[in-house]
Amino acid sequence: MRLTDINTVKEIMNEYGLNFKKKFGQNFLINAGVPARIADECTDGDFDYGILEIGPGIGTLTYELAKRYKKVVAVEIDTTLLPALEHTLAEFDNVTVISGDIMKLDVNELCKREFSDAGMKFSVCANLPYYITTPVIMHLLESEAGFDYITVMIQKEVVARLTSEPGSADYGAITASVSYYGEVKKLFNVSAGCFMPAPKVDSSVMRIKLYKSAPVKFKDKGIFFRVIRGAFAQRRKTLPNSLSGEFGELDRQSLTSVVEAAGFSATIRGETLSINDFALLSDEIADEINDRRKS
Ligand code: SAM
Repeated sequence: MRLTDINTVKEIMNEYGLNFKKKFGQNFLINAGVPARIADECTDGDFDYGILEIGPGIGTLTYELAKRYKKVVAVEIDTTLLPALEHTLAEFDNVTVISGDIMKLDVNELCKREFSDAGMKFSVCANLPYYITTPVIMHLLESEAGFDYITVMIQKEVVARLTSEPGSADYGAITASVSYYGEVKKLFNVSAGCFMPAPKVDSSVMRIKLYKSAPVKFKDKGIFFRVIRGAFAQRRKTLPNSLSGEFGELDRQSLTSVVEAAGFSATIRGETLSINDFALLSDEIADEINDRRKS
């Protein structure tokens, strides 16, 4: 079945009484080369994997994944798509479709049950709905489920943000947070014309190779991520001033002192810091908060 053929998509939509739901970010792929390439590149050439897909739609990418990988588990929020998926993926016995919202699922438990209990390595591959790209990526990373790769097609601008360097205009809290979990690589661009309906933005595919052990060490994970959030909260302000919104428990003078104790000038801006820098700073802040608790 050629699921990227426009007439086939229309026939399936008609047969199952479906319409493209904007609220679920439904833009289905209609260019045959794109899902095949995403499936080829999502694990850097190793097909000995279980794949978690988010949002199979009518099964276009799922089809290419199922042809290549040991097992595919696809989570779809829109229950009206389920009968169509049963039809389009009927030839595969290595696909499981789960009806649900990825944001509400315990991803760790799901991957254990579907993949690691059977001794399978596993990764994510998805054409993500645009209304929820960064929350889904953070949800997957924070699950610490044990993915080797997370490969997603998302808005081109978000990929530019996630692959940017400290000090550049695109570098933000999400860049620093994701870079704690893994190394991000842009794979290729996909134009809006490759989808039905065509979205208003262009897309890129990126792959995160997750670190096996944390790239930086710090005393308190909660404070580390609060420092990242706080440092970007008010980009035009100096680092101590920007941090003050997040760390209400510390006064400006203390924030200036901890920034200097971590080895930075008090006039520096948060957007120039790498995750190593955030780790240093978060340890100083953790010490300061602890000292205050004791006194
Ligand atoms: N994979 C298909 C393709 O490439 O043609 C469809 C991709 S479409 C951009 C996004 C899909 O994600 C839709 O099928 C949509 O219903 C589904 N979706 C949206 N929000 C979701 C969520 N929170 N959890 C699971 N699936 C979701």
